[in-house]
Amino acid sequence: MKLSEEFNKLLDQGIKKNNKMIANIKKVLVLAPHPDDGELGCGGSIAKFIEQGIEVFYAVFSPCNKSLPKGYKENDIYKEMENALSVLGIPKSNIIKFNFPVREFPKYRQEILDELIILRKNINPDLVFTPNCDDVHQDHQTISQESIRCFKHINILGYELPWNNLKMQTNFFINLDQKHIDSKVNALKEYKSQEFRSYFQSNFIAGLAQTRAIRVNKKYAEAFQFITGIQA
Ligand SMILES: [Zn+2]
Repeated sequence: MKLSEEFNKLLDQGIKKNNKMIANIKKVLVLAPHPDDGELGCGGSIAKFIEQGIEVFYAVFSPCNKSLPKGYKENDIYKEMENALSVLGIPKSNIIKFNFPVREFPKYRQEILDELIILRKNINPDLVFTPNCDDVHQDHQTISQESIRCFKHINILGYELPWNNLKMQTNFFINLDQKHIDSKVNALKEYKSQEFRSYFQSNFIAGLAQTRAIRVNKKYAEAFQFITGIQA
């Protein structure tokens, strides 16, 4: 907990102050098994990082063509995702899209690891966001496990998706302001194909951020599982 307090203090001061922890975070990589996972798990933090001049990359592993609602064409959800990420401030050139079949990631573990290794070489991120280790979805588990194999020598935070987490250790918090929550809500509004889901509702997004913030005596926060890294 002390570590995340210190991290937030330094993040709020901005990266221009030459402190070794934040000054070392120049590139962040968000790993999303499916479109929307990254925005739901850490959309407010993405908005805050970009505001602080930190470059954010977003890698997504499936267009979920087998699970799109009726009326949607192949890869339609990738268009919604690009719009959502643009609301958060991520340019198209920082989005990396793969085409693994939804719900079958465990069969492709090695191929996914190979792609992660290429991302590590090409982007060389300082901080990686990935689904937390207690996520029950098989695709999320695969990305979580393989990303830990690939990035274990750097900073990794596991994001929460409460509908997939039977339990989750929340021991790292990123404090957010109203504007970051607004960005997250507005980004998620771009997913017209998913708007029927209760966890896309603005009151849920704000409510979860308020619930997490209670632990750290703030107004809004996103909670994470501290997996490895972030040296004070
Ligand atoms: Zn997902």
